[in-house]
Amino acid sequence: RAKSEGRGTYRFFEARMGVEVRERRLLEHDLRHAVARGEMHLVYQPQTDVGSGAVIGFEALLRWKHPERGFVSPALFIPIAEESDAILQIGEWVLREACREAASWTQPLSIAVNVSAVQIHSPHFVGLVHEVLLRTGLAPQRLEVEVTETALISDPNRALLTLRQLKSLGLRIAMDDFGTGYSSLSNLRSFPFDKIKIDGSFVRSVDSNEQTAAIVRSVLGLGRGLGLPVLAEGVETEAELAFLATEQCHAAQGYLMGRPSPIAQFARHTHGTIPLNADDRKRA
Ligand code: C2E
Ligand code: MG
Ligand code: MG
Ligand code: MG
Repeated sequence: RAKSEGRGTYRFFEARMGVEVRERRLLEHDLRHAVARGEMHLVYQPQTDVGSGAVIGFEALLRWKHPERGFVSPALFIPIAEESDAILQIGEWVLREACREAASWTQPLSIAVNVSAVQIHSPHFVGLVHEVLLRTGLAPQRLEVEVTETALISDPNRALLTLRQLKSLGLRIAMDDFGTGYSSLSNLRSFPFDKIKIDGSFVRSVDSNEQTAAIVRSVLGLGRGLGLPVLAEGVETEAELAFLATEQCHAAQGYLMGRPSPIAQFARHTHGTIPLNADDRKRA
């Protein structure tokens, strides 16, 4: 009996895995056409100076509206796009779109773009970034590329070369999701980062949890020691922001200051104090 039960369980898993694999293949197929079919768009989330509250830039975040499924989370579709290399085409679209948008702003705020491992390891990536900067006219100093540690560890030497070449174009590199990857400390020493982004999971209830507070304080100390500004992600409450201010964290990003939204939203909500392109100015 035990044997047949075991086999039944096995079949159950096998069937489930079949569904998941099919699901992934369907999404993978749809992802290949998503850009061309106009199903992708970017939303923008403000990054603020903790001391003054001023907006210093925006992070571009990708959204996919599937014709039947509706919005699919990037946490779900980015890994699939990465496995299938569709990320190269999608990532190129993101870069062009984000730089084109930022170049149209009347204030020289920074624009942060997420870049995946597959892009970093593509031999065409540095050339692409260079071309997009030239074509859009965006000042390289305004572009910040966000990479996670896991994007670098598969081939660290190659990644280092790419990051150096990117920096020679004049842009900045931020380490995204700091604290969630592997061997964070040696990565900080090995790669030429310009900024550390503390993952939101460490910022949540930093004001009330002593362990979390200790971790965030030590990351801020690390940033100070290395001369790198630190941005805290996922700030949702005034108490979290107040903690960050007391601990002299440089920058913050999170629902408290603004949800990722179409850029026109910010122009309206702030009566023109946040980047207006010519169209938004007319609307405001
Ligand atoms: P990420 O780069 O670390 O982006 C931050 C994520 O936290 C975003 O999720 C954002 O919407 C969310 N977030 C911001 N503030 C808060 C907050 O106060 N509370 C909470 N709970 N969440 C907050 P999103 O937009 O779903 O993106 C998830 C991840 O997908 C990103 O993490 C990034 O790794 C990836 N991603 C998004 N867009 C792109 C892209 O264009 N290219 C690549 N390669 N990856 C992308
Ligand atoms: Mg990011
Ligand atoms: Mg992050
Ligand atoms: Mg992330």
